[in-house]
Amino acid sequence: MPTFSIQTLGCRANQADSERLRQILLGAGFLEVPFGKPADCAIVNTCTVTGEADRKSRQTLRRASREAGTVVATGCGVAERGGLEILPGAVLKLAPENRESLLELLDVPGCPGATPPGFGLQAGHTRALLKVQEGCDHFCSYCIVPYVRGRSRSTQAQALVGEARRLEEAGHREIVLTGIHLAVWGRDLPGSPDLADLLDRLLEGTRGVRFRLSSIEPMSFPRRILERMARFPDRVCPHLHLALQHASDAVLKRMRRDYTWAEYDLLAREFLTSVPGGCLTTDVLVGFPGETEDDFEVLKSSLRRLPFLHLHVFPYSPRKGTAAAHHPDQVLETVRKERSEQVIRLGERLARVVRRGFRGQIRPVLVERAGPLPGEVMGTADNSLPVIFPGTPALLGRIVPVRLGGERGGRLCGLAVGEEFRQGW
Ligand code: SF4
Repeated sequence: MPTFSIQTLGCRANQADSERLRQILLGAGFLEVPFGKPADCAIVNTCTVTGEADRKSRQTLRRASREAGTVVATGCGVAERGGLEILPGAVLKLAPENRESLLELLDVPGCPGATPPGFGLQAGHTRALLKVQEGCDHFCSYCIVPYVRGRSRSTQAQALVGEARRLEEAGHREIVLTGIHLAVWGRDLPGSPDLADLLDRLLEGTRGVRFRLSSIEPMSFPRRILERMARFPDRVCPHLHLALQHASDAVLKRMRRDYTWAEYDLLAREFLTSVPGGCLTTDVLVGFPGETEDDFEVLKSSLRRLPFLHLHVFPYSPRKGTAAAHHPDQVLETVRKERSEQVIRLGERLARVVRRGFRGQIRPVLVERAGPLPGEVMGTADNSLPVIFPGTPALLGRIVPVRLGGERGGRLCGLAVGEEFRQGW
């Protein structure tokens, strides 16, 4: 039986693409082995969002070349204007939009009908990724993605409902809706539906699975989504990863983000007040060209004003081909690094306060893996809180109501409802 391995760099959109490639190969009779082990074919799904991402992609391809007969590079790095024009060694290129041609590229006969979208459980056997949209027209000044992924294209709701149904039937309890610019889903479709319309169709078309939104931009955010989160708490996760990037209006303007801090703050508060139990997470880009000490202070003081459960912090790194890379006022790398570390520490303090606020509450937790100690399992609550509680592997992939208590290693410890009385809580 031929073997393959796969390594994914970058965002959830890449993870969703890798999942599709995995399904194609499994459907064609390949056996998956861990990345880095000898395999007939290794796939590297590259990311080119920064110069550092390009470096890591090249390094991963070199590692793959040492262990695999055939290496395939896919993802943003190999798209037109991606960062990997020159690939190490004899590596085959698969543009992300050509992923359905993987078997032809490998010269492997396909098994017609064996690889419908949604073939079997996705890796991890718990939550599944459903990519609903591709590309972006926004052209933020630091981002190469619109050049490498092309214009925004949405998948029709009908096809997505069919795919969600198959994922539910395969046993997934949670489906994460992903896209490059998720907020604009539907704009290019007849009648211009929005993401709230898509959620309505998905809720109608499935029975028990819960939906979560992946990272979403505040630009064009369809506010009707908040109403769906409040109305269907068991079906639409009360979690928003609302990408902020910065809180100084001057920096946001140079980033071409099209919102001010006040607008972001208003939207975040609307979410937190209208969606019970909702948690907010975000991305922060530190050290953007021209970021002054004052801008940085504005960023920190603004972040302190909202209850973020997690800050995903990136130090800015110039990406060739973007407008920001040519900005004359680049911030020194040492300063970028030092400021990022400050924001990471701030994020940890904010997260501790948010987690503490949920002690005593009951939240539905999707069990994802065994815990650090025997007899424990770990998972993610509907609002994205990380949770550990006593349980057996039989719970993997199930949603369990858990009463939350103290903390360990950045996670909330809890007990499955029913157990807390037996243990005298
Ligand atoms: S919205 Fe901005 S950051 Fe997001 S993919 Fe588009 S250009 Fe890049």
